[in-house]
Amino acid sequence: MIQHHAGDELLLPLAAGRLSAGQALVVSAHLESCTECRARLHSLQALGGALLEQAEPAALEAGAWERTLRRIDRLAPEAAPAAPAPHPALPEGVSWPASLRFCRVSGWRWIGPGVSFARVAGPHDPAASVYLLRIGEGRSLPRHTHGGIELTQVLCGAFDDGRALFGPGDFDAADESVHHQPVVQTGATCVCLAYVGARMRFDGRIASLIGGWIGM
Ligand SMILES: [Zn+2]
Repeated sequence: MIQHHAGDELLLPLAAGRLSAGQALVVSAHLESCTECRARLHSLQALGGALLEQAEPAALEAGAWERTLRRIDRLAPEAAPAAPAPHPALPEGVSWPASLRFCRVSGWRWIGPGVSFARVAGPHDPAASVYLLRIGEGRSLPRHTHGGIELTQVLCGAFDDGRALFGPGDFDAADESVHHQPVVQTGATCVCLAYVGARMRFDGRIASLIGGWIGM
């Protein structure tokens, strides 16, 4: 049962094609598992279409159509997606979101007791800060806040960060105002897909060093 959803501040730009590629990856992974957010996205898309239809027609500049066609002719054809890349192992019974199918995912790298991460490089913006975090049961991430927005989609397991309990399929958006320490519940390893808009600010010096080292 999904308790935490993506808000309109993310679904609206996604519907309009204006959400950054890194954020869109995480929101898309949530949409795959959440019928409620998919229905909301469809409503927003329908609303956008209706608004366009009702808009007052405006005259285009002379030659605008021809210029647009010439611009389209100059666009490089979009490369066909590469074959799905092999991904590192997930806990048994957990499958990869289809939205990550054409992403390159590094192997798991150890960053602390019970904690590893993998780098996710999407086809549209390989440099976007998208990561997978795998945290063992009962383990936690160091206490931190954020320099910008952090989006998290729980693929399996559950964590509690003092604000709420987030389980499989749940989505979270945290910003500078959130200062938290996610603690993974006992019973299962937790794997999350995360977009980190700006460096995380860790309370501890060692965590800061490791965070800087992996660019998180
Ligand atoms: Zn949702």
